[in-house]
Amino acid sequence: MSEDDTKDIPQTDDEWRELLTPEQYEVLRQGGTERAFTGKYVNVKDDGTYHCAGCGSLLFASDTKFESGSGWPSFYEPAVADAVETREDVSHGMSRTEVVCRRCGGHLGHVFPDGPQPTGARFCINSAALQFESK
Ligand code: FE
Repeated sequence: MSEDDTKDIPQTDDEWRELLTPEQYEVLRQGGTERAFTGKYVNVKDDGTYHCAGCGSLLFASDTKFESGSGWPSFYEPAVADAVETREDVSHGMSRTEVVCRRCGGHLGHVFPDGPQPTGARFCINSAALQFESK
């Protein structure tokens, strides 16, 4: 990551708290999960792109969003492959794969191997971690 890429990203916890809403902070910086079916993008089908609510990085596009029935926005692949990073997460007594924003390290959600083709992946992402830009 170059210096340019990081200059607009908060460097301290106080800066993050100032930039984000309490809900965004809880998800992005604390690894929280919004309650199912409460996020603002669960049922959105408009054409556009989904960016990180923390740093603005392009993460997902509407053409890979699908109806998963899970209660969270679901995508079968990222818009840019290396925009997200995955990590093993064994918290809460489960073995899951966490999805984070590569640019700012913010927690986005989890990815599961039960998605539709062509990837078979289900990126289950919190609405609070996203900012939609209509096409
Ligand atoms: Fe980010």
